[in-house]
Amino acid sequence: VKYVYTWGAGKADGNGGMKALLGGKGANLAEMTRIGLPVPPGFTISTEVCTYFYDNSRTYPVSLQAEMEAGVKNMEKIMGAKFGDAKGMPLLVAVRSGARDSMPGMMDTILNLGLNDETVLSLAAATKNERFAWDCYRRFIQMYGDVVLGVQKAEGEDHEPFEVVIETFKHETYHKDIIDSDLTADDQKELVKRFKALVKERTGKGFPTNPWDQLRGAAGAVFGSWMNDRAIVYRRKYNIPAAWGTAVNVQAMVYGNTGETSGSGVAFTRDPANGKNEFWGEYLINAQGEDVVAGVRTPENVSTLKAALPKPYAELMKVRTILEKHFTDVQDIEFTVQEGKLFMLQTRNGKRTAAASLKFSMDMVKEKLIDWETAILRNPAEQLEQLLAPIFDLADVAKAKTLATGLPAGPGAASGKIYLNAERAVLAEARGEKVLLVRTETSPEDLRGMIAAEGILTSKGGVSSHAALVARQMGKVCVCGAGGVEIDYDKKTVTAAGKVFKEGDFMSIDGTSGKVFGGELKTAPSEIISGIVSGDKAAMATEKFKGFQQLMKWCEQATRMSVRTNADTPEQTRIALAFGAKGIGLTRTEHMFFEGDRIDAMREMILATTLEARKAALSKLLPYQREDFTGIFTVLKGLPATIRLLDPPLHEFLPHSKEQQNDLAKKLGVKVETIIQRVSDLHEFNPMLGHRGCRLGIAYPEITEMQARAIFEAAADVAKKKIKVKPEVMIPLVGFKKEFDLQAEIVHRVAKEVMSEKKVKFEYQVGTMIEVPRGALTADQIAENAEFFSFGTNDLTQTALGISRDDMGAFLLPYVENDVFAKNPFATLDTTGVGQLIETAVAKGRQTRPDIKLGICGEHGGDPDSVVFCHNVGLAYVSCSPYRVPVARLAAAQAAI
Ligand code: PEP
Ligand code: MG
Repeated sequence: VKYVYTWGAGKADGNGGMKALLGGKGANLAEMTRIGLPVPPGFTISTEVCTYFYDNSRTYPVSLQAEMEAGVKNMEKIMGAKFGDAKGMPLLVAVRSGARDSMPGMMDTILNLGLNDETVLSLAAATKNERFAWDCYRRFIQMYGDVVLGVQKAEGEDHEPFEVVIETFKHETYHKDIIDSDLTADDQKELVKRFKALVKERTGKGFPTNPWDQLRGAAGAVFGSWMNDRAIVYRRKYNIPAAWGTAVNVQAMVYGNTGETSGSGVAFTRDPANGKNEFWGEYLINAQGEDVVAGVRTPENVSTLKAALPKPYAELMKVRTILEKHFTDVQDIEFTVQEGKLFMLQTRNGKRTAAASLKFSMDMVKEKLIDWETAILRNPAEQLEQLLAPIFDLADVAKAKTLATGLPAGPGAASGKIYLNAERAVLAEARGEKVLLVRTETSPEDLRGMIAAEGILTSKGGVSSHAALVARQMGKVCVCGAGGVEIDYDKKTVTAAGKVFKEGDFMSIDGTSGKVFGGELKTAPSEIISGIVSGDKAAMATEKFKGFQQLMKWCEQATRMSVRTNADTPEQTRIALAFGAKGIGLTRTEHMFFEGDRIDAMREMILATTLEARKAALSKLLPYQREDFTGIFTVLKGLPATIRLLDPPLHEFLPHSKEQQNDLAKKLGVKVETIIQRVSDLHEFNPMLGHRGCRLGIAYPEITEMQARAIFEAAADVAKKKIKVKPEVMIPLVGFKKEFDLQAEIVHRVAKEVMSEKKVKFEYQVGTMIEVPRGALTADQIAENAEFFSFGTNDLTQTALGISRDDMGAFLLPYVENDVFAKNPFATLDTTGVGQLIETAVAKGRQTRPDIKLGICGEHGGDPDSVVFCHNVGLAYVSCSPYRVPVARLAAAQAAI
């Protein structure tokens, strides 16, 4: 087996398609080399070595050393320098991790590896630049000491130990703040001495001097970091299998820190926050790459590079075009300029906000870089909700005082109680608070806190730090580097414009403008919501709105499944249709009784002890229902409406408090004791498994009768107005064919009665929900009379897993942390388990009734992964809440491409 893949001087063993084996970074370094871009030579140790490492108690394949030696030889030849050379110019290398997708939390980078007390002298001699050589050495000991030797902040320490040494030295020597690039060669020498002493003190061992020991140590640290906590948290969040492993890249150093004609930068070929076709990024003159992301010095905007270094800038602009043409996507790049010459150190598809994804995809179709199907795939369905996320109420913002301004790193509006560390942010979120995570700099350790927070505010650091990228990808609102915000971790306070905020106080941030406000600001809907829901003309004229509508149009062209909505009112229906829903997949009729005095009639019905009393209550409910259905049918104009018969878990409707009971007693003119007695009679130990669903209609057929009448009378009234109607009456919680038949018989009888009473004909269907395992397993029998199935995956998950949908919060976290659940199964369909029940029901249903209509109306209908599953098992539609309709449409279209 080959373990090492080299690249350099226009040739490469690997290519961009080999990400599984070489990781993203390695594959693209090979690819850039192949297309003739200036890439310093190097080699990739493949991900198979990582797998081997963990399968063989952290050891390496025997042939690895020889392959690495050949890789180093190749670099030496191209660079004209020798690894460990104490006489001439020594070859130094950078060691970087490189998983298939870039992963915050992994060991990132070690630069200048190969230096020791001898090679630092030969480097100084060969470059005639002593300050530079010792700067490299100092940096190397710091990075290597930190990530490989583990010289890090200990419990109770506030600052990184190497930083403490530097700060102490600066203040002793200069009595003030001085930037790193102003330190002299002698200063760097002194720091090297102190760093080595620190390493000795903390590890009990000297700093490794042999370059090969250094190299093996660094590679081992990369592989080791694959299993560190932060990497594991990240993989869990993004469902990355641990088995993928990481690669290690070893690349010849080029130097951005040799003087004023050198520098390092990170950039995006287009703006990843708003999507504009403008080169975007940051750089520093006389610095190595780490300085740009570390936030030690504040980097310059890349737009000024043209004036600072015109020739390499022009070259960079050419590279920008070549990369976009070649990869047909926006690239996130790292580059170094060494004495006026440009080198490319990395390229990858840039992480972006949902707004940027949309604009990139629309622009690139116009530029003929991609076709419309690709444009659909370029908009991640899970991110689309970001576009629909609220913005601050404009009137509120106008009134609010801007306390500080930072860089807009993740768009959207967020208000929340501030917390100054990840742990407390997570706890606050668990208590149900809206959280704003506030940190001086964002680092991968903050990941958990970021996941818990609505938004992230930092006082230092640039927009290109890993954590800022992560914030954008997660769709978190993020403001970075707000210098006017002072954070005191000890006192747990944040001070801005003289105002002091304590942990738990509200602050607000606007990730689109970068502004920071005190208190809680009101939010307003996004342009897309305003345009679609309110028909706001100004919103509809925006590029974002138009791009969104274009995307939805393309989705329509690509999709096989349609998307319906779960709606209980005409207004919800209207919104869903505006988002492109093709009808109603679920109306929960019991929800129509949550409001106003309707609940009283409903309670009267539930509490009734005699048939007469129940019928009396039902006759009060009938007009409400008929009116609702009339409204819904009118809005639908002939699109289908699946209306489910009453399915109230009774506990949701009973009056439980003294006050409610007294109130109801008065309204119904009965003794409160009667009510208390009835509530106690109706008490259930497992209401979700109790007297609900079709069990209610079987015990009290008059309920089904009333509902069928309301539906069909409304249908008749609307049909008479020459508006088409398509009611689909749905029987809930069916596990036995007989249950369905008993209920369907009533529905068919009432339909006939209403048609003859009203002298009008209309089409209708009667079908069932498949939401208990027995229903799925006996779907062939149920389908004999049921004309459609709709998968109620909320209850199907609840009953298949035997986990209460209402009580699972108590153990969800440990279940996710221990990998029992990859994701919350009530949000993302458990395709392995519950999925089998669905597949079985689909097959059995079709066996009996080949053209049976199949859909899903559980919460999973709006979850992108679950939508893909629904497409694959051949459902005709998914149904979800109105605001998730666009997400489902996008996911359905992507599944079909
Ligand atoms: C379901 O169980 O998936 C469903 C849609 O019904 P409900 O959520 O109302 O129980
Ligand atoms: Mg259900």
